[in-house]
Amino acid sequence: MIIAVVSQKGGVGKTSLVQNVGAELAASGHPTLLVDYDPQSNLTTGWGLDPDADRPTIYTAMLDPEQASGCIVSVRPQLDLIPSDLNLAGAELQFAGDFDRNGKLKAALKPIAERYRYILIDTPPSLGFFVSNALVAAQQVIIPLQAQFYALKALGPVFDIIKRAQGVNEVLHVYAIVPTMYDARNSLSDPVVQSARTQYPKLVTKTIIPVHVRIADAPIHGLPVREHQLSSSGAVAYHELTKELFGHGQ
Ligand code: ADP
Ligand code: MG
Repeated sequence: MIIAVVSQKGGVGKTSLVQNVGAELAASGHPTLLVDYDPQSNLTTGWGLDPDADRPTIYTAMLDPEQASGCIVSVRPQLDLIPSDLNLAGAELQFAGDFDRNGKLKAALKPIAERYRYILIDTPPSLGFFVSNALVAAQQVIIPLQAQFYALKALGPVFDIIKRAQGVNEVLHVYAIVPTMYDARNSLSDPVVQSARTQYPKLVTKTIIPVHVRIADAPIHGLPVREHQLSSSGAVAYHELTKELFGHGQ
């Protein structure tokens, strides 16, 4: 199952979700691939890898899908990463003239996709070239919803671009909307989640990811939160979320 994690807003927890749900899936024994599809390379950094190191990236695989295997870095048992670096920012221009410019990521993943039960694609905070590519490559979309005022309004454009992508990728579906950055001390967090549930009753997960300092700390140490502090409410939340989304987790 190839899943794109998408939101045009930055700082809503996309990268955190990919790293932590990926770590949970792998820990429960499922071969999982994480794709850093953001030139900012936060997912690469989050696993303790230097994005400035000279290594093949997802951009390499987009230029030549035959090299996809060589771009994979094993980060944990059952867990692989295809890193990115700043060169990925040039991809949009590089492929601008190609008729299949939005199919480049799909082509890059094709030679290796069969090896994995789950492939999670982290995307940049925009709805342009990178998200279009991710939505052509994926079968499912997960949308993190920051539990803050105005967050619901941001969902409209995401659903619009998904609808457009369904024109070329008819299997594409929204798998879930995940409330993130929930702050119990912020009186607006709860109403936002409640209205999201009313508007999208089938999509909003029961599990809510709280604001938690361990979630923010973990990638600074190059770790998913479950390895940083397994008992923290942040680690428990990602464990529960993974169980809810995919029906397993230890
Ligand atoms: P995005 O990928 O959508 O830009 P990130 O996952 O990078 O968002 O999160 C933005 C910042 O907030 C990062 O520094 C991250 O470590 C931190 N963060 C993410 N989720 C949480 C959370 N639930 N609680 C506290 N900090 C978080
Ligand atoms: Mg990110």
